[in-house]
Amino acid sequence: MPAEIDVAIIGAGVIGLATAREIAQSKREIFVFEKNRTFGLETSGRNSEVIHAGLYYPQDSLKAKLCVEGKNLLYKLCDKHHIAYKKCGKIIVAADENEMSWLEELYEQGRKNGVDDLVPLSRAEVKKLEPNVEARAGLLSPSSGIFDSHSLLKFLYDRAREKGAEFVFGTEVIGIERAGTNYKLQIKDRDGISDVVAHVVVNCAGLNSDRMAQLVGIDIARAGYKLHYCKGEYFSLDSKYRNLVSRLIYPASEQAGHGIHWRQTLDGRVLLGPSAHYVEAIDYAVDETHKQYFYNSVRRFLPFVELEDSAPESAGIRPKLQGPGDDFRDFVIAHEEKAGFPGLINLIGIESPGLTAALSIARYVGRMMS
Ligand SMILES: Cc1cc2nc3c(=O)[nH]c(=O)nc-3n(C[C@H](O)[C@H](O)[C@H](O)COP(=O)(O)OP(=O)(O)OC[C@H]3O[C@@H](n4cnc5c(N)ncnc54)[C@H](O)[C@@H]3O)c2cc1C
Repeated sequence: MPAEIDVAIIGAGVIGLATAREIAQSKREIFVFEKNRTFGLETSGRNSEVIHAGLYYPQDSLKAKLCVEGKNLLYKLCDKHHIAYKKCGKIIVAADENEMSWLEELYEQGRKNGVDDLVPLSRAEVKKLEPNVEARAGLLSPSSGIFDSHSLLKFLYDRAREKGAEFVFGTEVIGIERAGTNYKLQIKDRDGISDVVAHVVVNCAGLNSDRMAQLVGIDIARAGYKLHYCKGEYFSLDSKYRNLVSRLIYPASEQAGHGIHWRQTLDGRVLLGPSAHYVEAIDYAVDETHKQYFYNSVRRFLPFVELEDSAPESAGIRPKLQGPGDDFRDFVIAHEEKAGFPGLINLIGIESPGLTAALSIARYVGRMMS
């Protein structure tokens, strides 16, 4: 690797990959540093693979705008490059009066965000679409879907490389400091520790992105960049549950995630989750004792599910800017020029709908750099 490079991207999750592909189109010299042995082993490989419609987020927030734009870009890209997906649609279900009024709010929120295909459903209409689902009312989002996210990651990786981006795996960024108008990155790989100077640094380090900002010298508490980890676990259901429900089924829920939902993957497996609980450390083990909680959550709208038919599956961790009980926080996608760090772009708190929005987030970063 040369001692001086143009653009350093930290992290090869979906955001680092999409950004590398986007910036590589302008023929800049790019190196992507990834601590793991390959791309997509953290949050980007541990999620629901749902293409979100964009109804949950406040109007004009980055989450709303980039989700709606990203969803459209993603469907087009999947079509063009034969990445498997299923626009199966999703029904958000309400079990009581409270939840019904929340559905109405969601409907309005979605319309404000430009999601204009939402359909409020009565109990009978839910039953007609999904005979095995119990609900007082529902909200149908026809443009929600599922897709093969690993194929997307591989596509972005291949395209970025074809355009000249270099990937340096097994290499952790452990220090960043201003060096005149550039940044000196300290990197650690199996040969030891070395330095590389970069003109531009794009911080796509996911769960570590707040720490990367801190390394440069940003006061992350003051900037509101400190991340809170919120774990989401999944349980799988026995194969006898295949094809009992054809859409994504989400509860009407205001908790930290979108509630424990039902999803049938492209290969036919039925998964429940993710749950949402704040944790201190990154640990992807699934706690089998949470089975009862999953069961209680989904029995309200999926009464046919039996406790003994579920088994621990996998887990992911959300990099959240909001702690327990905090108000909505938007993605941070910031060129830190005003904070005294020209050429540093931070992407922090890229939780859901980050996968859906990855292509539009990359465009947004590309515009910041042009
Ligand atoms: C349970 C769960 C379910 C989700 N479901 C959905 C969904 O259905 N739809 C949706 O749109 N979004 C979903 N999301 C959100 C989505 O998965 C994320 O927004 C997205 O994957 C974030 O990608 P990323 O590239 O920012 O982070 P990551 O994938 O975590 O990538 C960051 C990379 O940076 C690397 N890194 C970190 N520190 C360093 C360092 N110092 N040096 C070098 N490399 C470093 C890491 O190893 C990692 O590979 C979900 C998230 C979770 C947790």
